[in-house]
Amino acid sequence: MLGCLISFLTPKATPLSFSQNVLFACAPIRSTISHFPHSNPIWVSSHSGQSLRLCRIRMGKVAVGAAVVCAAAVCAAAALVVRHRMISSGKWARAVAILKEFEDKCGTPIVKLRQVADAMDVEMHAGLASEGGSKLNMLISFVDNLPTGDEEGLFYALDLGGTNFRVLRVHLGGKDKGVIGQEFEEVSIPPHLMTGSSDALFDFIAAALAKFVGSESEGFHPPPGRQRELGFTFSFPVRQTSIASGTLIKWTKGFNIEDAVGEDVVAELTKSLEKIGLDMRVAALVNDTIGTLAGGRFYNQDVIAAVILGTGTNAAYVERAHAIPKWHGLIPKSGDMVINMEWGNFRSSHLPLTEYDQALDAESLNPGEQIFEKLISGMYLGEIVRRALLKMAEEADFFGDTVPPKLKVPFILRDRPTLFLLQQIENKCECDQTAVLLKSASFFQRAHSSSIISKFQLSSEPLPLFFPYVLFSLPLLQSSFSLSLFLFLSNALTQDEERKAAVTPDMSAMHHDTSSDLRVVGYKLKDILEISNTSLKMRKIVVELCDIVATRGARLAAAGILGILKKIGRDTVKVGEKQKSVIALDGGLFEHYTKFRVCLESTLKELLGVEAAETIVIEHANDGSGIGAALLVASNSQYLGVEES
Ligand code: ADP
Ligand code: MG
Repeated sequence: MLGCLISFLTPKATPLSFSQNVLFACAPIRSTISHFPHSNPIWVSSHSGQSLRLCRIRMGKVAVGAAVVCAAAVCAAAALVVRHRMISSGKWARAVAILKEFEDKCGTPIVKLRQVADAMDVEMHAGLASEGGSKLNMLISFVDNLPTGDEEGLFYALDLGGTNFRVLRVHLGGKDKGVIGQEFEEVSIPPHLMTGSSDALFDFIAAALAKFVGSESEGFHPPPGRQRELGFTFSFPVRQTSIASGTLIKWTKGFNIEDAVGEDVVAELTKSLEKIGLDMRVAALVNDTIGTLAGGRFYNQDVIAAVILGTGTNAAYVERAHAIPKWHGLIPKSGDMVINMEWGNFRSSHLPLTEYDQALDAESLNPGEQIFEKLISGMYLGEIVRRALLKMAEEADFFGDTVPPKLKVPFILRDRPTLFLLQQIENKCECDQTAVLLKSASFFQRAHSSSIISKFQLSSEPLPLFFPYVLFSLPLLQSSFSLSLFLFLSNALTQDEERKAAVTPDMSAMHHDTSSDLRVVGYKLKDILEISNTSLKMRKIVVELCDIVATRGARLAAAGILGILKKIGRDTVKVGEKQKSVIALDGGLFEHYTKFRVCLESTLKELLGVEAAETIVIEHANDGSGIGAALLVASNSQYLGVEES
């Protein structure tokens, strides 16, 4: 045993298989023991400045004992280091293996994407054939008359689809003049109204509309005998019964007003408008996707479809009415009918689902539903990354011996930066300032949460650029709260990177980190998951995970678009025909997640091939959902063709 220990320490006796790590661990000892014959005496060297002093020591029993104990201790330590390094390299290998396996399962080679596109095409046919014929609802929107660009007049729109709603007034100038004026007001919905009664919600909305209309000048008043006309963008699942009526199927996004389910939302709104004495006719009911399609068509007659990529995802397109077997109504004059695909609910065996996606779905509020949406939309991307990281932490001790508790919190990698921003405020303030400023922030959130906070969420601009705009556009400017918040924020978030990280959702911020040491990744891991001291190597893995998840989402979205193009025969170029097809895209994910957008666009090109790709254009339709409804009112106005007296 002793011999073995000693030989362990003797360089000459080092076994050939000895790892670099042990040699490294033994290096200090080698410099001390220059010669170790198998008998006494022993030569020990020691350094003192430049001179080397050698002395001969006669080893007694005590000295030998001490040497053996030391040797044993050093040896044990060395063995521990080796073991630790072997274990950690084993763990690292395990983490890398988890990553690789995930990457493989998320793979979206072109062949697979074509299968997804074909499946989308098949499901579209099935959904159009009969009610409930497919996971794709393929809802008939009753919009058969899209804007031509020549619309003229003053129209209103109401955009309700989240925690705030907007009231808009749009002034259309007619041929070649486009939109000549547009004003809007954004109002946040008090939380108690989101789960109260239908009357309370619609009374609140009608009151905001009345206030908006009440403050407008004479010039905006309708001619005698005419009503104001309003388009209602209502982005919840609705079974449409005509262009201006539809029953609510269910609430989503935190709303839960039981007595409104199954009711015609237009009738509910109209009732409230009458109650408050506002003479306004709801002339169109649409969702944000149809609104985006209409908005896109107004500017460009080649627009044939719209896709929303935001918190959720959906698509709408223009179908020929005679290709809709489940449509038993008259064939419209235009021959067209806009279909709201509700494509978030698409699913197919060709979708590359991983164990993480399956677990996410099983634990979601709507298991088995919205599978496509759970793969590609903003709400879920960060959550998939979290789940993969959690697996690495649990099975490969990726973040050390314990699993960081925050990593176990579902949806902690937020797709919205609000909380993070408010935390920043809290962290950065001087104590006495904190109370005041947090108060001002929460005051803002209550009074104007929508305006100020959602602008944080939506903008990737550095704060100073849009801050004055946000504040000066609010009547609250006069308030000292707003001023102090402004002054504070512009001081607190001084560094460009920090500002960007604060206004960008977590995953996107990490994915776009271009710093050499992946600072933003480190910053997010520390701030959100409370994991400090991450190495560059670890941060790279995190970025890799973001890339895998975003790439899969973007490529699948491109395959979905190809499916639509196939359905309407626009995926190939016919001889002698160079017809352009434009797809209007909107939503925060498409607009702000650059890598996602670039990947989607390049994948679509790759799928189409050079020639067909030249005929397909992806266009960002900014805020179509708002003005789209007003435009649809214009093209469906009761006064259309009636001369103004
Ligand atoms: P909604 O879909 O709720 O109507 P948006 O269209 O604004 O809202 O989309 C919000 C989504 O867009 C977020 O869930 C997020 O995934 C994504 N998003 C918003 N801002 C950014 C950003 N700066 N970078 C990356 N993604 C963003
Ligand atoms: Mg939206």
